[in-house]
Amino acid sequence: MPLTDAETTLIAQATTLSREVITPQAARWERERRIGHEALAAAVALGLTRLQVPASHGGLDTSFSCKAGVAEVLAAGDFGFTMSLINTHNVAAHLARTAAPAVAARYVPDLIAGARLGCTALTEPGAGSDFAAITTRAARCDGGWRLDGAKAWITNAAEADVVLLYAQTEPGSGGRGIAGFVVDGRRAGFVREPAFALGGQHSIGTGGFRLEGYIAQDDELLYPPGRAFKAALGSINGARTYIAAMCNGMVGEALRVVRTYGQQRQAFGRPLAGHQGWRWRLAEAASELAACRLMVANAAALIDAGQDAQLAAAQAKLLATRMAERQLPVLAQAMGAEGLREQHPFARHLMGARVAGFVDGSTEMLLERICAVMHD
Ligand SMILES: Cc1cc2nc3c(=O)[nH]c(=O)nc-3n(C[C@H](O)[C@H](O)[C@H](O)COP(=O)(O)OP(=O)(O)OC[C@H]3O[C@@H](n4cnc5c(N)ncnc54)[C@H](O)[C@@H]3O)c2cc1C
Repeated sequence: MPLTDAETTLIAQATTLSREVITPQAARWERERRIGHEALAAAVALGLTRLQVPASHGGLDTSFSCKAGVAEVLAAGDFGFTMSLINTHNVAAHLARTAAPAVAARYVPDLIAGARLGCTALTEPGAGSDFAAITTRAARCDGGWRLDGAKAWITNAAEADVVLLYAQTEPGSGGRGIAGFVVDGRRAGFVREPAFALGGQHSIGTGGFRLEGYIAQDDELLYPPGRAFKAALGSINGARTYIAAMCNGMVGEALRVVRTYGQQRQAFGRPLAGHQGWRWRLAEAASELAACRLMVANAAALIDAGQDAQLAAAQAKLLATRMAERQLPVLAQAMGAEGLREQHPFARHLMGARVAGFVDGSTEMLLERICAVMHD
């Protein structure tokens, strides 16, 4: 689906935000191991927390292709910031579409204003790829559900307090017994754990929390058992596609930095770009990036058209992640020692590509999905 004029303008504004606000601050967020709140305010002002939120809830109701375009240009600045922002956006869009009106009214305005952060919690200390094996327990109680268990490796969990959470209602029943709830991190029974200390990408705000006798009201059950497993996987094609777009954004930015440097830096009496062996590296990276961009555009168009995007999304994420993991070190090498400076994005982006290999379906799970579709 072609972008509207308004969507094209929004992506251009997001590009400016990325270059002028995100890129200059990203190294500091990493050093201070925190979420990029300064840029969040600017992103909110542009409407980037409202992209796919319905107009009836104050949203922009944009196409998925527009969201993928925004994800690419923001991740050019910082993968972690983009993850954090999109996860809050996703919770707002989800609640606006599925929650009871009173529940949506309680959370959606704060989420789109950036006053509260959102997160989606499937993964647990003991269950990642095998989502059906989660053990966080949801047991019926007077007026609602009692939730007990632990979640880990959750984007924004360092701070988020509007949580889309999946729990098991019938131990041993696998996906069939899983239900989906909205959980309020400001209520009793929600115990946040310290943010995870990782090798990088701290602007994602990765962390975990425990639920200890947390009570969810009846109207906070978003998906009853039997529907939640499918609902959780329902948005996965979109997530895979925008993660692929984010990988493209990181490689695009690395290329931009290297190209500029290669015009200025002299070696053996000419600019680096004057050496054929040097510039061929850039040609290879640009060609692979162009192919991955086409794959993202194709998956996004299928999603916008309401068609089956399983294969296209899985293949786009598989190849874009691998392309970023391969090309970012090559482009960093082309910078010489200069590429090691923290003001340049290479090391940060490479860690972003590593994270992309796990979130919303690890590389191995993507291969399994591709096999399953091929043998259908
Ligand atoms: C920064 C970050 C942010 C995240 N954000 C979120 C979030 O917001 N919400 C959320 O719910 N989760 C989130 N996750 C968790 C992510 O979804 C999991 O990391 C992912 O599902 C893989 O689970 P795991 O890491 O436990 O690996 P495991 O499931 O323990 O697997 C370990 C390795 O074995 C491979 N493997 C597993 N099973 C098979 C198999 N059958 N065949 C072949 N290989 C296999 C996996 O691909 C992986 O490489 C995040 C993770 C990271 C790193």
